[in-house]
Amino acid sequence: MNILANRMDRGFFKYQKEFEQKALDVLRSGWYVLGEEVAAFEKEFAEYTGSKYCVGLASGLDALWIAFRVLGISKGDEVIVQGNTYIASVMGITINGATPVFVEPDEYFSIDADKIEEKITSKTKAILVVHLYGIPTPMDKITALCKKYDLKLVEDCAQSHGATYNGKMTGTFGDIGCFSFYPSKNLGAFGDAGAVVVNDKGLADSFRMFRNYGSEKRYYNKVVGANSRLDELQAGLLRVRLKYMKDITAEKIAIAEKYNNELKNDMIILPKVPDKGTCVWHQYVIKCEERNRLMTYLNNQGIGTIIHYPIPPHLSEAYAYLKMKKGDLPITEKLADTVLSIPIYNGMTNDEQDYIISKINDFK
Ligand SMILES: *Cc1c(COP(=O)(O)O)cnc(C)c1O
Repeated sequence: MNILANRMDRGFFKYQKEFEQKALDVLRSGWYVLGEEVAAFEKEFAEYTGSKYCVGLASGLDALWIAFRVLGISKGDEVIVQGNTYIASVMGITINGATPVFVEPDEYFSIDADKIEEKITSKTKAILVVHLYGIPTPMDKITALCKKYDLKLVEDCAQSHGATYNGKMTGTFGDIGCFSFYPSKNLGAFGDAGAVVVNDKGLADSFRMFRNYGSEKRYYNKVVGANSRLDELQAGLLRVRLKYMKDITAEKIAIAEKYNNELKNDMIILPKVPDKGTCVWHQYVIKCEERNRLMTYLNNQGIGTIIHYPIPPHLSEAYAYLKMKKGDLPITEKLADTVLSIPIYNGMTNDEQDYIISKINDFK
């Protein structure tokens, strides 16, 4: 059997007719940027998350950096973020000239809330929470800290569409929830796309201005903005997928539950979800001391896997200027050496999953 680490074709073919019809409708409409599809998607996605406003943007990275921009966070300011994240989370901070202050993760791959307070200084302006792999971050202590120290709270929900903590959607705990709709995400477009959700009208207006060259009124530019507009085609296609988001998420949860129940190998540690959370399983990430050997073994059996992520941001060449070194974040670094994402995608067959499970269980 040959199983790819991920495949997006199955998610397309399941709703092929509707996607194709929507694409044709948009192409024939003669209107391609900031139109009815974007407005409708923004309304529907705001409702889906339980937020007042959604503003469509061009990518998840744009959502992050524009979030810190509209919050006024810049050079000299510090933003607290977990060490084990995709580098885009950190770039959202540093594009604005602000400094990331890294905190080690807990057992859920989330920022360890007990290690945040010791990192708060007079320069700290915000906490960026990343709901990594679709596992919701335990939010109780974090929201309390933000209140206590008057910090902004931004959530990176690029991997957590629909995940909840305490019955509340990720992205709605703080000031701004940032989403990516990159094709491989749980709610995926057919190209780059992103959005933010907010409850504050002023913030929503700022995002609308920022995404369109800083202009509220045509040719009247208030600030130096960006071109970060969600286009009509992507918005229309996202609306098709959003309609089925319940089923899409339920399918991933069912695959993860089968892994939870049937993966049995003492060399492997399975992922954990916090008590009050519901996980949407963007990735199914196992840990193994002999990760590289496991990866090669699975590859030889025709099973593709991916490491999310092999180099933590603080050790990336892009952040050499932070002058951090190996050993500075031992838990984060250990994860980079031991995590492995096994296939979990919409449209995975039972046979494929049984094969993956038996091969992992046989690993010695
Ligand atoms: C994908 C991702 C991003 C960036 O989203 P893009 O749409 O690719 O720019 C940011 N943060 C996390 C955690 C991601 O997984």
